[in-house]
Amino acid sequence: MTNTEKCILIRYGELFLKGGNRSFFESLLKKNIRESLKGLDFELSVSQARYYISGYDARCEYEITERLRRVFGIHSISVCYKVQTDLERIAELLRSEFDKEGKFRVTVNRADKRIAQTSMQIAAFIGARLIEAYPSKLRVDLFSYDAEINVDIRENGYTYVFFDKITGAGGLPVGSSGKGLLLLSGGIDSPVAGYMAAKRGMKLDALHFHSFPYTGIQAKEKTAELARLIGRYSPGTRLYFAAFTKIQKAIRDKCPEAYLITIMRRFMMRIANRVAASKQCSAIITGESLGQVASQTVESLTSTNAVAERLVLRPLIGFDKSDIISIAKSIGTYDTSILPFEDCCTVFLPKNPAIRPKLQIVEQLEKAVTDADELIAEVIAGLETADI
Ligand code: ATP
Ligand code: MG
Repeated sequence: MTNTEKCILIRYGELFLKGGNRSFFESLLKKNIRESLKGLDFELSVSQARYYISGYDARCEYEITERLRRVFGIHSISVCYKVQTDLERIAELLRSEFDKEGKFRVTVNRADKRIAQTSMQIAAFIGARLIEAYPSKLRVDLFSYDAEINVDIRENGYTYVFFDKITGAGGLPVGSSGKGLLLLSGGIDSPVAGYMAAKRGMKLDALHFHSFPYTGIQAKEKTAELARLIGRYSPGTRLYFAAFTKIQKAIRDKCPEAYLITIMRRFMMRIANRVAASKQCSAIITGESLGQVASQTVESLTSTNAVAERLVLRPLIGFDKSDIISIAKSIGTYDTSILPFEDCCTVFLPKNPAIRPKLQIVEQLEKAVTDADELIAEVIAGLETADI
């Protein structure tokens, strides 16, 4: 069987819920699919709320499905045989391509109502032909089966035959919720937070604060690698580096040690406000999780939030660390996150941080940094774009 064409069928999920916005979501998803397959030869066509990838080199099939698995908005993917709608041809295709043994069933979806037979009749016909060909290998069992043959008869005169459904990433197409600025540390949590915001349709840019020379070049490289890994889910992600050492030293020299972290966080947020504004990001995303550490109590988050000038999304707020770790592993960021390079926050870590800092006290104490505006302006002026 050589003249059978293969293609990859893409089904999308939640887009259906979006009513009037549907065409906007569809064209965004199409654009993101093209972007994710950049560098490969393929054709993309649309038919009846499905996308089909065809015209690719057979050797790239696995690479294509792997990349598609990271495109948000895709519900499931199937590698299909495409054949003209003709029951004999379909049976012949299966005789040569279906190589499983044991119990199987044929499931027919007949969108093309011009075909006289019912779905059940077609399934029975195909099943019978297969058993005829391999009587000792195959047996039909509609309820308890090892393999399912799906026969999807579409209205375009073609039938798509597939044996598996690969679960897609789900969510909404990246870009449908605008763009957010991810505060990306080198840790486990923030990449997962970025992934979750991207899953709900947010395009990402990332901002990392470093404390050179207290944090080294490797910490930057690690963050760039994390941004690259997240960028596989949110194509076009850019990473910015902000030099935070001078501010940290000013805070250390002028503010009580117990409040260093809280005040540092507020400066990070002020800088993030400025970067978000200049990069058209409508939200700021952090990896904070309620109660995880001293800087993530309700009072600490209140202090940080008080200086935020736009929506702050904290997708991990209710997650246990173990939940976050399993997502990090499944999205491929965990191994990079646990590399042992210092983060800027650990460099100036106080022994006894204030666990419930009062906002009014914090506001009072940070006034000691009298040149705050100049320090922030300097960080913004020195912002670096990373190469990812
Ligand atoms: P993570 O695993 O993401 O580092 P964490 O549990 O270590 O998180 P914190 O260090 O308290 O928590 O940081 C809380 C959040 O603040 C991070 O998830 C991240 O969004 C942001 N953040 C912390 N450090 C940095 C940094 N150096 N650059 C940018 N954002 C940071
Ligand atoms: Mg951290």
